[in-house]
Amino acid sequence: MKNKICSPSPAWILTSLLISAALMACTPAETPGNSVTESEPASASGLPTVDLIVEGEYIVTMDENQTVVKGGAVAIKDGLIVALASAADVNAQYTATEHVAGDNRIVMPGLINGHSHAAMTLLRGVADDLALMDWLNNYIFPAEVQFVDADFVRIGTELACWEMIRGGTTMFVDMYYFPDVVADVVESCGMRAMVSATVIDQRSPDAENAADSIRKGLEFIGRWKDKNSRIIPIFGPHANYTLNADQLRETRAAANEAGVSISIHMSESQFELQYSKDSYGMTPITFFESIGFLDGPTIAAHVVWPTEAEIPILVERRVGVIHNPTSNMKLASGISPVTEMLRAGVLVGLGTDGAASNNDLDMWEEMRLAAFLQKVDRMDPEVMSAQTVLTMATSGGAEAIGLRDQIGALSIGMKADLIQVSFDDVHFVPTYDVISHLVYVADEQDVATVIVDGKLLMRDKVILTVDTERVAHEARELAKRIQAALAERNQ
Ligand SMILES: [Zn+2]
Repeated sequence: MKNKICSPSPAWILTSLLISAALMACTPAETPGNSVTESEPASASGLPTVDLIVEGEYIVTMDENQTVVKGGAVAIKDGLIVALASAADVNAQYTATEHVAGDNRIVMPGLINGHSHAAMTLLRGVADDLALMDWLNNYIFPAEVQFVDADFVRIGTELACWEMIRGGTTMFVDMYYFPDVVADVVESCGMRAMVSATVIDQRSPDAENAADSIRKGLEFIGRWKDKNSRIIPIFGPHANYTLNADQLRETRAAANEAGVSISIHMSESQFELQYSKDSYGMTPITFFESIGFLDGPTIAAHVVWPTEAEIPILVERRVGVIHNPTSNMKLASGISPVTEMLRAGVLVGLGTDGAASNNDLDMWEEMRLAAFLQKVDRMDPEVMSAQTVLTMATSGGAEAIGLRDQIGALSIGMKADLIQVSFDDVHFVPTYDVISHLVYVADEQDVATVIVDGKLLMRDKVILTVDTERVAHEARELAKRIQAALAERNQ
């Protein structure tokens, strides 16, 4: 790629506390013309036309060199990034059907939420301050059997897409029921997602038992595989305490046969650890390895309690670990040894988990808490940097879910999933270090523009692809029914 603009040295990364000093050192190369593809149709101005040019005072690319381009622009055509350079260079090379100005805005990759249960936005706050198993068995599972149907999933997922788009998340890995409905909503809201067919050995809202959910999962995957490049159907076996060894093996076999990944809860709580030891005489990751479950692409949510001997298994099997600090704190699941896993070479991304155990879908908060939790746990403020958690939310997260060659960083040929963060709010005045501000200051409200697959989903904080008024109305109406039924049940 000739378009490499500015590759700061490692020393720069380490010492760049002052943006004024740091970014001045990063001057765009003056090489216009080298990223024009010859097949572009020419406009009246004689320049090739692209769909969209997005500018930013800084482009935080999250590429391998952590390149930051000052006064940059990204040109997008057919859903892909076709140029990334100084705004002057990009505008000299292309004319665009649409142009998004970059005054006081930072352009960066969209955030990747590696673990969610999107439709649980509708169960946000119905039960809080409980232990994981109490919360699951006495509130969430019964409430789901009673209330969750296709309509619930549609409304809840629409709410989640609205919240995630508003907060700059462009991709999520979901695990819930009625996956066709989830996929339909993702298709219409414009986001990118891996949608799991949940496998669980109990009567669930959309299946009778494990065998039934595997069968239905295969049908779902058949319907959605290669249908829409933004929607990737996968299998979502719930956990090793809701499925037995045979059912887990069968799910892996079905996933491998269908050529899809698996997303699963793994080594989340002390309960799971004890259950695994009692049932199989092994801790969870050792157990999964022993039954061949890790023999295929695996996204493991939580991984709070890996033993020292299990971390090399995660590395060897290239298991993508999704760290969910807020959920782990709220349910008192524990503190994941993210520092040790990263040091060992485990692929680690970040996730929110469902809105019932978080209670929001705010990836900015996950970044901040991921850093703070490691620091206070080790009593060492140097143990996890802003750059490290920003990587976990973008390129590192993409690698953990197996999409590093497509999303998570901004460079030519990558899918155009990117956001603009506005630096207008008082908490950005002044800004010395862009990366520090993105991680330790920015929140959902600062996201101005969201683009997925080259399409605008939000512009100047206006959501374009979700009918927010209708969704809010439907959610409030459904919540009234849930609240009335819960009141009756708990009398
Ligand atoms: Zn979960």
